[in-house]
Amino acid sequence: MLTKSLNRLISAPTPTQFRVNHLLRRLISATVENDKFVVVQPDGSSAPTTNTTTTSQPLKFPSVWLRDNCNCTQCFHPTSKSRKHDWDKFDVNVRVEKLQTNEQTQQLIIDWSDKHQSVYDLKWLQERAFDDKRRQEYLDDFYRPKPKHWRGAEFNQINQIFDFKDVISSDEALKNWLEALAVYGVAIIRDSPIDKTVVRQLAERVGFIRRTTYGEEFIVQNKPGAKNVAYLSDPLPLHTDLPYYEYKPSCNILHCMVQSQSQGGSNLLVDGFHIADRMKAEHPEDYKILAETLVDWNDIGSEEGKHFHNIWRAPVICLDNDGNYTRINHSIPQRDSHFSVALDTVIPWYEAYAKFVRLAREDAHSFKTKAGDVLTFNNIRLLHGRTGYDDTDNNVRYIVGAYLDWDIIYSKLRVLKSSAAASSSSCSS
Ligand SMILES: [Zn+2]
Repeated sequence: MLTKSLNRLISAPTPTQFRVNHLLRRLISATVENDKFVVVQPDGSSAPTTNTTTTSQPLKFPSVWLRDNCNCTQCFHPTSKSRKHDWDKFDVNVRVEKLQTNEQTQQLIIDWSDKHQSVYDLKWLQERAFDDKRRQEYLDDFYRPKPKHWRGAEFNQINQIFDFKDVISSDEALKNWLEALAVYGVAIIRDSPIDKTVVRQLAERVGFIRRTTYGEEFIVQNKPGAKNVAYLSDPLPLHTDLPYYEYKPSCNILHCMVQSQSQGGSNLLVDGFHIADRMKAEHPEDYKILAETLVDWNDIGSEEGKHFHNIWRAPVICLDNDGNYTRINHSIPQRDSHFSVALDTVIPWYEAYAKFVRLAREDAHSFKTKAGDVLTFNNIRLLHGRTGYDDTDNNVRYIVGAYLDWDIIYSKLRVLKSSAAASSSSCSS
């Protein structure tokens, strides 16, 4: 058989190290290191090469990871793309017994100490390489686009404008909108119809609306006897929405159907990550306090006869294990009078918070959406507000809003990127 004749197998000269090279073309070679790793050299480690691109770098994989990620139908369910081998019988000390490479199919073939054989495509392995550069590329390009922080004065450079019809009809436009939201946390969609279904159409283009205590779509306008400060025509100070939820709705979609003709009613936006950067650089002690002190955020009320009492305790600046910002919480009205922290931490927290609030206010960019504009922004990153406006019978402002969650947005973005990559590779082949 052709395939078999191309596979050249050499048994191990020592238990811990052996190497496979091809006689015809030295495109792939592989060695076992310390009985625990497989090192793959895509261009053949001993072949002289002028190719110095990263594709020729050796790729090192733990044997246990390779065995765990066998792609065969016994170990992996292809339609659900899920691992299915029996972990109760899995040997974490599994060893390579034989190593083969196939230069024609560009594959690595491993016979394991548990008497199983696995076949790996070189391309599949390269996409999962453990080197720092490849991992970072995957995290920044595919897992979640890396945010770029901005100053309020840079708003007009970073804010991207999309056409409503394009976003609804073109996957490319949809992808670009979601990418802009992920990177900058804000984007505007223009020329939408003056129709209450616009926010739903956009949300369903991505996935589905995130429901909250206030329903799915919500209306922001001056309401007599308002139960929420957002429904007053007074100035609305900078804030993030719904900090009192552990699972805080991620992204605001605000469709401007009628804009007030009065002087006010401008939107205010600030990149909370930029303010956090400034706190870190200019007031490092206060930054630490804001990143560590748990604040009680709350919302008490009722909607359509149903009472609610939401509380979530979280810092103003939330960080992940790598020290990256995961969420900004800020809302003067939605901060509880319960402050469940040690007495001596209260005053330093107030001092730190006042600096944060002042920096945000000074950096806020002000602009006014017009009828047909849809303002979309990241609610776990940006602070938003509104200047006051003169709300009379013939001078109203009417905004329809809804939320989307980042899980759903990132998922759609990956689907769109994968299908764009697949169609571009099928065009070029
Ligand atoms: Zn398998």
